[in-house]
Amino acid sequence: MSKQQPAPPPPAPAPAEAAPVEEKKPEKKQKPKAPKRRIQVYKLYKVEGETLSRLRKECPRCGKGYFMAQHGNRLTCGHCGYTTYTQKT
Ligand SMILES: [Zn+2]
Repeated sequence: MSKQQPAPPPPAPAPAEAAPVEEKKPEKKQKPKAPKRRIQVYKLYKVEGETLSRLRKECPRCGKGYFMAQHGNRLTCGHCGYTTYTQKT
């Protein structure tokens, strides 16, 4: 009985060439800038037949043509900053 020689160990797989680790650079994420939205004036008016109604309150300081922006609990004039708070009841 001849002693069987142990099978030679399988050749170790060639070490895969490690991909060169790229140095992490602070990436500048460039977000595609959304085009600046223009105010949609047509949303501020409502025309019924021959009558025109304004859907926003006008600014008492700036006068006609300056509408107050509606926020959660306040109305603000974007022109002069006038703000009125609407009371929640
Ligand atoms: Zn104003």
